[in-house]
Amino acid sequence: MQQSCRNAWCKQPFEVTDDDLRFLEKISPIFVGKKEPLPPPLLCPDCRQQRRLAMRNERTLYPRMCDHCKKHIISIYPADSSFTVLCPACWWGDSWDPLSFGRAYDFSRPCFDQFRDLWYAVPKISILALNDNINSDYAHDGYRLKNCYLIFDGEQAQDSYYGEVYALIRDCSDFYYIKQCELCYECIHCQGCFNLRHSRFCNNCSDSMFLLDCSSCRNCIGCTNLHQKDHHIFNKPFSKEEYEQQRTAMNLHTFSGIRALREQAEAFFLTHPRKAMRNVMSEEATGDNLTSCKNVHDSFDCMDMRDGRYCTNCIMGGTDAQDIDAWGDHMTLVYNCAYVGAGVDHLIACYYQSFGASNLCYSIYCLQGTRDSFGCVGLKKMQHCILNKQYFKEEYEQLMPRIIGQMREEGIWGEFFPPTVSAFAYNETVAQDYFPLTKKEVLQRGWKWRDRQEEMSAVSKVIDGKLLPESIESVPDDVLQWAIRCEVTGKLFRIQPSELTLYRKLNIPLPRRHFDVRHAARMQLRNPRHLWARPCMKCGKEMQTTYAPERPEIVYCEECYLKEVY
Ligand SMILES: [Zn+2]
Ligand SMILES: [Zn+2]
Ligand SMILES: [Zn+2]
Repeated sequence: MQQSCRNAWCKQPFEVTDDDLRFLEKISPIFVGKKEPLPPPLLCPDCRQQRRLAMRNERTLYPRMCDHCKKHIISIYPADSSFTVLCPACWWGDSWDPLSFGRAYDFSRPCFDQFRDLWYAVPKISILALNDNINSDYAHDGYRLKNCYLIFDGEQAQDSYYGEVYALIRDCSDFYYIKQCELCYECIHCQGCFNLRHSRFCNNCSDSMFLLDCSSCRNCIGCTNLHQKDHHIFNKPFSKEEYEQQRTAMNLHTFSGIRALREQAEAFFLTHPRKAMRNVMSEEATGDNLTSCKNVHDSFDCMDMRDGRYCTNCIMGGTDAQDIDAWGDHMTLVYNCAYVGAGVDHLIACYYQSFGASNLCYSIYCLQGTRDSFGCVGLKKMQHCILNKQYFKEEYEQLMPRIIGQMREEGIWGEFFPPTVSAFAYNETVAQDYFPLTKKEVLQRGWKWRDRQEEMSAVSKVIDGKLLPESIESVPDDVLQWAIRCEVTGKLFRIQPSELTLYRKLNIPLPRRHFDVRHAARMQLRNPRHLWARPCMKCGKEMQTTYAPERPEIVYCEECYLKEVY
């Protein structure tokens, strides 16, 4: 069935397949024996994803106070926000009762307005965290962290800084999507790597720099598509002595040495083929960076998924999932949700549900086995609640079809919360990473924008990024008292003591750019989450790929790529 996106600024045509309709039929909830069918979505897949991501502030942190214990904390909500914000210890504690914010559903008011009022009223957790982080206050949605700073969305990290999406890492900085890595710097989509720098899409590589699509390589520089190689530079083998000589001559401990190598490496990579879709050990899978997935389509950056469509960042696996952004782990029958996982099932249009939540619609932060509820916020171990008000089972089952009936009339049943319900300004959210908009565009759509003022504690000196020493050996410890002015945006930033220790350990120069600029540059090195149809540049077979037809890379279908590389 061909639809066109209802967003006036988009109007993209999109297809709702028979499989999509079967999935909607399967996940439609049942009350008193009667199914409440979910209609096909009104928005195109991109606009649907944009809405979900607009609920999430991942990287914008502010200093403020916990509104309960008055401790100074770091939070995703600024001090001037109108919300009640609690530190994780207070939020997880018994000092407040989410049911005290409960209210009766009012059939004379729009559904999302009522939900928004409740969502804004219930205390917010300052950052998503349990009580298991040590010296890692500047981290959001991270678990079992020690000595970490500005890392987001992951678990089990030590002495790591400035990165997003990670698991089991140590001594890493400036990364996106890495797992089981140590002493890695500027790595993107890498797993099981040690002392690897400026590399992308690598597995089990070590003591190397500027690698792309390599596996099990050691002591390599500027290589692509290599497997189990040692002492290679630009894909050519060298003796150990020659390799060391060449490496020393490149001055890779200096800023200009790294910049020159980056330019050479990127130009070299353009002369070698890339695989149309980086899917590994996957069957019937379309999308990119899918590992061990089966029957998963139009999805990106997922692992261990079965029967899914339009999913992103579901790295912990799941089954029967459609329109889900992160994260998985015993997740089944979920539709149009973001950041749900750890034993969840039957969720419709929810944001952040975890720890055994099931049979929930339009709810946020409902945890620990909360089930059979609608439009709720912050519930733990509850059942049969609507807008945080508790009902008997029979009352609940009678009310739900009426509420869904009203939503159907409003044309919102099955649709995700609009950005006007988000607790954040659009430019604070992950949506701005994937669907960047100007302030004017955001305000025209009636969404929120926040102009950020950088707060900087007293510094003894401000130095321009481009005037920083070429190498770390000329940097005095005094640098910890300085602010550095980003060479791109002019924004000031500081170096953390443990971060400086890591740069010294790795013998790499100080960054000259603000971490927001570094993050944006890493995002640029990944392909867009969009599939284009184009012919294989070797055999001419039609294929799907995230490389747009006008891009300069040589792109091969999987068969041709594997023939060329192995
Ligand atoms: Zn659209
Ligand atoms: Zn507190
Ligand atoms: Zn081919």
